[in-house]
Amino acid sequence: MLIEHINRRLRELDATASRRRLRETATPCGPNPRLSDGTDLLSFCSNDYLGLANHPQVVQALADGARRWGVGSGASHLVSGHSLAHAALEARLASWMAPHIPGAQALLFCSGYMANVALMTALGDAQTTLFADKLNHASLVDGALLAKAALQRYPHGRLDTLERQLQACSTPLKLIVTDAVFSMDGDLADLPALLRLAEAHDAWLVLDDAHGLGVLGARGHGALEHFGLHSERLIYMGTLGKAAGVAGAAVVAHPTLVEWLVQSARPYIYTTAMPPALAHALDQSLALIEGEEGQARRRHLQGLIARLRQGLERLVAMHPNLALPPSDTPIQPLLVGSNPRALALGAALQARGLWVPAIRPPTVPVGTARLRFTLSAAHTEAEVDRLLAALGEALQELPA
Ligand SMILES: *Cc1c(COP(=O)(O)O)cnc(C)c1O
Repeated sequence: MLIEHINRRLRELDATASRRRLRETATPCGPNPRLSDGTDLLSFCSNDYLGLANHPQVVQALADGARRWGVGSGASHLVSGHSLAHAALEARLASWMAPHIPGAQALLFCSGYMANVALMTALGDAQTTLFADKLNHASLVDGALLAKAALQRYPHGRLDTLERQLQACSTPLKLIVTDAVFSMDGDLADLPALLRLAEAHDAWLVLDDAHGLGVLGARGHGALEHFGLHSERLIYMGTLGKAAGVAGAAVVAHPTLVEWLVQSARPYIYTTAMPPALAHALDQSLALIEGEEGQARRRHLQGLIARLRQGLERLVAMHPNLALPPSDTPIQPLLVGSNPRALALGAALQARGLWVPAIRPPTVPVGTARLRFTLSAAHTEAEVDRLLAALGEALQELPA
């Protein structure tokens, strides 16, 4: 009965070309993965924006960390799983954000998903309204749905709608919640304007910087450094599995808010702490990010982004069904329209040895199926050129 029911639902996915499948890699994260069936691909999929996921110094730090700390943390943070390695990483992240959030403290989580659910449920009590951009990441959406707070969503980037919602709001507490870099479009939220709105309406601003940490700002400290923002009202969430190349996440905020997360956030309390060896590896990764090597990698990445966009703009000029939304980040979407078109283009690229995700509804709005290219400092210019050449050929084959 259950199996038949689920099989029917799976067939519904097949009918709309929405069923996804796993691909198994046999090599570490990097631009040139080999799949377990022996296929070699050139990948534009990962969020390893700086190429640190397999960096020798970070790998060495993880090995050193395991020798120093063993493998597991053994318990949740509040029971006995909280170590010096966690505390040192939290101190480094707090110092990164101190110029932007006065007195900031940091708190580690096992993933960004859990950090966002923690923030939404612990801060979103019945006295609170959450104001959320409609294109926010699924983890913020899920957290908001679990929270006791009222939820108001505003169309992507529409701060005029947000302002009206704030004016009409009658709960004593208000939290504006936004991705800093939107994960499907690569565009930046207008954080200075959002912060002004927060200040004007006695609201707080929760910022999900999953794609900004390590990538934005002269020292890679993320979106707050990029925009030069400073306010007690900022509540920052950065992930550590993307540009930082490891795993986990941190919330950085006013110490009272951090203390409340420790006391009440269920995704913090009821889970085993991140292995301390990972915290040790992350400390090394963050040191690389803010040092000269990180700066050089960000410069190289910016060059790749400009090169890819120039090539994509040429292709869009030749193929009127395509659209290239504005994005200065390593996330570059090419809108192709329907699911079958996105899949056909993805398959034609794969036949040429390229691995590019075709992103379809419900992850993105209907009619905006896309290829999403993500660039890494581990890519070369020649690899970007190879992508553009293959895309040009694949587009010739595609029925209009
Ligand atoms: C990836 C991502 C998350 C989740 O972070 P994980 O550490 O992968 O769980 C949260 N928000 C955004 C915008 C993301 O892209």
